[in-house]
Amino acid sequence: MIEILTNLKLIFFVMLFIILFIFESFYSEREWISKRFFRLFFHVKIAIINTVIIRFPTIFLIIPSLMLITENQYGVLNNIDISFALKAVFGLLLLDLAYYFWHRLNHTNSFLWRFHSVHHLDTQLDVTTSLRFHFGELLLSSLFKTILILFLGAPISVFIFYEILLSACNQFHHSNIKLSDNLDQILSKFIVTPKYHTNHHTVMKDSRNANYSSILTIWDSIFFTYKDAKIEDRQYLGLNDRSKEFGLIQYIKHPFIKER
Ligand SMILES: [Zn+2]
Ligand SMILES: [Zn+2]
Repeated sequence: MIEILTNLKLIFFVMLFIILFIFESFYSEREWISKRFFRLFFHVKIAIINTVIIRFPTIFLIIPSLMLITENQYGVLNNIDISFALKAVFGLLLLDLAYYFWHRLNHTNSFLWRFHSVHHLDTQLDVTTSLRFHFGELLLSSLFKTILILFLGAPISVFIFYEILLSACNQFHHSNIKLSDNLDQILSKFIVTPKYHTNHHTVMKDSRNANYSSILTIWDSIFFTYKDAKIEDRQYLGLNDRSKEFGLIQYIKHPFIKER
């Protein structure tokens, strides 16, 4: 079952990626500074490396911990007497809340920021940015996920459904798609929209060290971390260091070099 669901995740990811990539051609919010296909190939290279590396923690940590909590009924949700539907709702909400804090920690902890900053080095934002994560960040987040699975005890199907949802939202909010102000306002009351997440990718620290939500925007509202950026700030994305945007070796080495 786990195999089928993880394959489903990949199929969904590729399909949505193609759809959003085509959409970006017709309804783009910002002009591209560098060639789109160059960005695509660079980020696909990163994705291939990540897919290979991430198989190890998936096989040796994530799947065994999902099996363990199911067989032994470990974790908070496995030990409260509520219906499956309620477990699913609580599971999804708590996972999204945990990811909010994980993302926030990636910005506030200097060790985690070394890895997460690779994602923020991108001076543009489009659906291909959703592939741009350092494998070190993904390995560290696998450890975090394992602890979360063991503690929370969410049903396997709920956990994988959340992962599919998260990856779809990740692609959507990174995409360079222009939504009408009206639609953006309505949507961003509930979920992270491209404009909302662009606030998080500004060079300006005020709005970069804010807007941490991944799926539901309610977490930024509850913890007072929503910060709307100025229009001109949303045009200048990335970090102050503009020299390390594209370069596979630089990308791999980035978290391990001293100066930043
Ligand atoms: Zn971030
Ligand atoms: Zn991002």
